[in-house]
Amino acid sequence: AKDEGKNRFMIFENRMHEQLLSRIDQEARLREAVGRGELRLYLQPVAGLPDGRMHGAEALVRWQDPQRGLQQPGSFIPLAEETGMIIEIDRWMLREACRVVRQWQDLNPPTAPAFVSVNLSAAHLELADLTEQVSIALAETGLSPHCLVLELTETVLMRDVAVTSSRLEELRRLGVKIAIDDFGTGYSSLGYLRDIPVDVLKIDRSFITGLVGNGRQQELVSAVVQLGHTLGLRVVAEGVEDGDQLTLLTVMGCKFAQGYFLGRPEPAATLYERLNAQVLT
Ligand code: C2E
Ligand code: CA
Ligand code: CA
Ligand code: CA
Repeated sequence: AKDEGKNRFMIFENRMHEQLLSRIDQEARLREAVGRGELRLYLQPVAGLPDGRMHGAEALVRWQDPQRGLQQPGSFIPLAEETGMIIEIDRWMLREACRVVRQWQDLNPPTAPAFVSVNLSAAHLELADLTEQVSIALAETGLSPHCLVLELTETVLMRDVAVTSSRLEELRRLGVKIAIDDFGTGYSSLGYLRDIPVDVLKIDRSFITGLVGNGRQQELVSAVVQLGHTLGLRVVAEGVEDGDQLTLLTVMGCKFAQGYFLGRPEPAATLYERLNAQVLT
């Protein structure tokens, strides 16, 4: 029995060792990813309601890892955040999103997105040169500031309200819009609406998932939509996966929605081709 315990411990130890090695290995490869051009910009449509047509798009990162294939953000963003590599990744995404959408607008089809939303991790709000970085990305790509939305989660915004507010004011003075991402999942949502200058409120997917057949949840989401509109905000419902959810949201007066039912994230080029093929036929 004693040996068995020892063996089990060794198996455990080996597994930990393997995990550690694979993490170190992943970290090393992720460090090279930006320079090697392994990051990919995916776009997911944000649709206007009730027509359901793409109005804007959210930029979502993917990593084409030569060893493991296409990686979803969940498998590398936490590591990137821990190590600070997220700064470089988000910066690349910001520029690429501005560049691609400006290019699309230049071609001037009726499908051109009116805005692109870019996710920023917490670390950015601590950078004194955030506004400068954003304004450089806009200047170098030629995208209008009015076409750029920066998405920050509630937990990010919560850190230091005074610093956050002044950073966000600087950005808004450029003409850029600020969105609260995953709204409703933090623990002091109303506080943000009072203290932090934002333009867009994105209702978290978890509130949309169980919407059908749950009257209480419908009242809640409906109230958040009204509240957002009363405060002059644009409200986007996230994670819409079926037509019934979309109908309910439309009836509630929600004007924007995003989710697999309306379009999955895909490379900008395929989204462009798909939408413009639809327009031509
Ligand atoms: P998020 O910002 O809340 O992005 C929405 C996520 O929900 C995306 O996952 C999207 O693919 C997924 N989604 C959209 N519609 C549906 C739906 O109808 N059903 C379901 N089940 N899921 C849906 P993704 O692309 O895996 O991104 C996950 C998270 O990773 C994002 O959540 C965001 O927090 C983070 N992320 C993605 N790209 C970036 C980036 O460039 N920078 C930073 N800092 N974070 C990023
Ligand atoms: Ca987001
Ligand atoms: Ca979200
Ligand atoms: Ca999320």
